Amino acid sequence: MANLTSILINLISANHILHNHAVVDAYGHVSVRSPTDPAQFIMSGNRAPALVASPSDFVTYHVSNASAVNPDAPRGYIERYIHSEMYKRYSNVTCVVHAHAEDVLPYATSGVPLRPVYHLPGFLGGEEGDVPVVWDIETIYNATDPHDMLVRNERDGASLASYFASDPSNATSSVPDRRVVLMRKHGFTTWGDSIERAVFRAVFTAVNARVQTNSVLLRNAFAGQLGQGIPEGSWSGAGNGGDVFNNALEPLTAEQAAATERSNDGTIDRPWGLWTAEVEANPLYQNNGTDGTLPA
Ligand SMILES: [Zn+2]
Repeated sequence: MANLTSILINLISANHILHNHAVVDAYGHVSVRSPTDPAQFIMSGNRAPALVASPSDFVTYHVSNASAVNPDAPRGYIERYIHSEMYKRYSNVTCVVHAHAEDVLPYATSGVPLRPVYHLPGFLGGEEGDVPVVWDIETIYNATDPHDMLVRNERDGASLASYFASDPSNATSSVPDRRVVLMRKHGFTTWGDSIERAVFRAVFTAVNARVQTNSVLLRNAFAGQLGQGIPEGSWSGAGNGGDVFNNALEPLTAEQAAATERSNDGTIDRPWGLWTAEVEANPLYQNNGTDGTLPA
């Protein structure tokens, strides 16, 4: 039970950290696979992540169909199928985050690809098979579905989960190839083999989006200031080809993305320690994870 208690404390912290970093607002959610039963997962009932405070705020769900283990459980998030279908398809997935972060939304609405533009978000990948792609729920609606963009059932969740595989028809891999999938006109989803890693990916997906947007805006503003576009080679340092600066983006190469992800993976405890200290120092966020137990 000590393991369950520490996981619930971390799950409460994850709710707070994601809010503190503007990844979630009143909407968005984080879940964890149950440490006592891998066929179940735990997430908050229907409440804003910043206000999740104790184990009694959580509901335990079946992975099989996202139904509450306790039929009398309070109302949950509509989009819990995002989580259940990730746990169902990929046994390696321990934590799932879904959000509509304002910084990421331009990449789910504009057609501009989201790519890692510096080292910390190297997990976004550099190969075609692992960079974020955009899933569009509109393509799977039938005649009677409400077109409200929400992941409302197993079909929707399974379709989204399939986009985490570089080959969606390969349903046997236990580990998703992609760390992040964008959801058109909606948001994004990411995952981890731990709460800490999933939160790291969610936060740095939003940071990368912010930096990428600013990089493109700055570059275009500078080109406009010159009145002639950026001259070929004008900013190229040693080792940089001149015309890379004439491309809209210069994301990490596949080699850089893989190497930075490997290096960063060993350092996740550092931001987690900072981020939990930040939310513990803010009275908005209450973590009573040691009080009480999960509702039956
Ligand atoms: Zn959503």
